[in-house]
Amino acid sequence: MEKRNIRDLSIDDITEAISAMGEKRHKTTQIIKWLYQKGVDSFSDMTNLSLPLRKKLDEAFTITPLKVVNSVSSKRDKSQKYLFSTTDGARIESVIMEARGHYTVCLSSQVGCPLACAFCSTGAGGFDRNLTSGEILAQVIFFKRNHIPPRTRYNLVFMGMGDPMLNLENVSRALEILNSLDGFALGEKRITVSTAGFPDRIKTLAASSLKFGLAISLNATTEEVRRALMPAAGPLDETMAAGEAFATRRQTRTTLEYVLIAGVNDSRDDARRLSKMTSGRPFKINLIPFNEWPGCDLRRPSEERIEEFIRILMPKAPAVTVRRSQGSDISAACGQLRANGRRR
Ligand code: SF4
Repeated sequence: MEKRNIRDLSIDDITEAISAMGEKRHKTTQIIKWLYQKGVDSFSDMTNLSLPLRKKLDEAFTITPLKVVNSVSSKRDKSQKYLFSTTDGARIESVIMEARGHYTVCLSSQVGCPLACAFCSTGAGGFDRNLTSGEILAQVIFFKRNHIPPRTRYNLVFMGMGDPMLNLENVSRALEILNSLDGFALGEKRITVSTAGFPDRIKTLAASSLKFGLAISLNATTEEVRRALMPAAGPLDETMAAGEAFATRRQTRTTLEYVLIAGVNDSRDDARRLSKMTSGRPFKINLIPFNEWPGCDLRRPSEERIEEFIRILMPKAPAVTVRRSQGSDISAACGQLRANGRRR
């Protein structure tokens, strides 16, 4: 029988496997700490476990890291993009960004993406498969080990390849470990899950005990433009209602991401509508001037247009920020991840 990657198991799964081996439950805590706090890649390194247990674990499971295929550093800022290969040869990209000693890791949740949003290079490259929870967590372990100094705070954003809501089971399992005090001990302020908008799944996650912040990729103020830009995403009103319900239930704000595209969604009317749609509701608005990529006809608005959009939006809309994406010179900015040649 093929051995499973132990990082694909939930905490309960590991406890069950340990019990089946005739071991005490508290061994689970030790194993989780080795896997995620210390990030070891071999059972033989788990030196506070007995030799027989290490052997049993080695016979039953693997610990599978991601293989680095390539990496490229931005010349303009401190972002670095990695191309990883999984054991079955699938390729994914992840990005680490640093600004003033603060680290943010942009994670992928799928190999490619089936949603084909018009402004996104990942979507244009098609879809291969969901990432396992172990493959999602392996991205975090890699950056912790190679980039983030010990005891330094960092944030995780699920904004790389794929839509986390389409891989709910594996993303939830990864979030459980990211939240766990024995795992990564990251709370809701340190993790953002970004989705094109699937109202039912947002509600499912809102009702769970998993800790994370929610971001919704909105990008339109009319259903017509949303359909044109994001044909497979949930309807505008329902998606915003789900985002509002999430924020209310968790006493927080849901971020609405709005990629500004010249002549598509950057008019004065769009700004007025967006202001009206969000005023007095528990949202934050994050404007992202479109990052152009080869083969896409969409264009970034001029700086004057962006400024005017903000001026109209600001007075009534809640908490408006503009994201000047890092890594645009290495195709690592929002919507630019592609992992050319996903499988070899
Ligand atoms: S924007 Fe997100 S959901 Fe849309 S195609 Fe790209 S990765 Fe998929």
